[in-house]
Amino acid sequence: MKNLSIRFRITLWFTLALIAVVLFTCFVVLYADHQIIQKTVRDNLVETVENNVDEVEFYLKKEYTDPGETDYYIAFGRGYLEIDDDFLDQVNEVYTGLYHEDGLLIYGENPISRNVSELKFSDSKIQRVKVKDSLFYVFDRRLELKGLEGMWLRGVVSAKQGTAHMSNTAQMSLLFLPIMVLVSAIGGYLLAKRMLLPVHEISESASAIGTGGDLKKRIEIGSGNDELHQLAKSFNGMFQRLEESFEAEKKFTSDASHELRTPVSVIIAQCEYSLEKPRTNEEYEEALETIQRQGRKMSKLINDMLDFTRLEMRAESYVCEPFDLSELVQSVCLDMSLIQEKGIVLKCETEERLRFCGNRQLLSRLLTNLISNAFRYGRENGHIFVKLASKEDQILLSVSDDGIGIAKEEQDQIFQRFYQADNSHSGSGTGLGLSMVKEIARFHGGEICVESEIGVGSTFCIIFKI
Ligand code: ADP
Repeated sequence: MKNLSIRFRITLWFTLALIAVVLFTCFVVLYADHQIIQKTVRDNLVETVENNVDEVEFYLKKEYTDPGETDYYIAFGRGYLEIDDDFLDQVNEVYTGLYHEDGLLIYGENPISRNVSELKFSDSKIQRVKVKDSLFYVFDRRLELKGLEGMWLRGVVSAKQGTAHMSNTAQMSLLFLPIMVLVSAIGGYLLAKRMLLPVHEISESASAIGTGGDLKKRIEIGSGNDELHQLAKSFNGMFQRLEESFEAEKKFTSDASHELRTPVSVIIAQCEYSLEKPRTNEEYEEALETIQRQGRKMSKLINDMLDFTRLEMRAESYVCEPFDLSELVQSVCLDMSLIQEKGIVLKCETEERLRFCGNRQLLSRLLTNLISNAFRYGRENGHIFVKLASKEDQILLSVSDDGIGIAKEEQDQIFQRFYQADNSHSGSGTGLGLSMVKEIARFHGGEICVESEIGVGSTFCIIFKI
């Protein structure tokens, strides 16, 4: 069953359900039809017999009859029975007979007279008699007029009388049932095909994107808001994210290889220069220093990239726990204030005992990166100011400097991986510091912002929610 297409399965279930409903409806209709017809047959029997009751009279002498009248006279006892010419002994398959109570048929006819004569008379009651597997209704009526004592009218009608009409209904039902089911099944199949067309298109587009690798393609199934359009939207959203992360990966790989290529080229060039011909000791020393510097730069770059990838891909490997953030900030500031660079003075102001749930190692890295930048882009004999404070349900950590500042148009881009602004002439950075800071802030549910002015200084501010 699972190997069958959804379209076929829908049609099959729908058709089976339809057959069940139609069969049940037919059964109910035929049953009700049968009951109504049988009642009509019985009512007709009673009515015919009742009408005939007044058509039988007893006279001592034969009455004078108008010429043209065809009343029928039967000698009976000391007089005559007059059977009016309105007496209907056979109408609508209803047979009426005039009987003496001892079972003798005096007038009229009866299709089952012999069997009926064995059936006892029962006044104004419908009795059922089976003759050769056929059912008959019998209705008796005692005649009460003077002189008619001991006389009965008996009406008989076959229950099959309604069968002709019944079988018509049945025949119509039996003819239309398969046609209806067939038409519905074909209609259902076509409808299912039409409704599932977008699924087919989604699957075609998805596999085309999968095999062709063109993540720019999107599923086009027109406008609408049903489940299938929602599915197509979800797929398109997924392709959008895949495309973005694929592009980001591509950019990261190309940036990383570009960043690594420079130190590697410098190292190779220095080696070639040293090996080309004998050099003086100073020249060798200078070449080795360059190689060492570039080697360190590569090592930092590789470490930064690995840390970045770990944070991005395996964030769950960093455990968060509550700790004293004030203490951490003070300790990092104390360590970094020992840096003797450009005569810059680092000052720290923290609110006491601020507890925060996070990863100590990452938050220490965040602060170190910001303070390193403040040193790197600070001015001679400048100042760095680190501040930690809480406000309502937020913790604010800021690092300010009075260094070279960042141009307005670059302030959005400095958080991108490998982005280095025009002001960074030192060459010691990797362009990954701030993007790492942003990623760590994001990991802790925080946000980063920057305020900066060229020649005045910069303030980086991180806002965490508690
Ligand atoms: P880098 O390793 O180059 O410092 P970052 O990602 O840390 O990379 O910073 C990106 C760029 O932002 C830097 O190249 C620099 O131009 C600018 N920048 C960062 N911090 C500061 C700062 N405190 N003052 C001025 N410019 C800064």
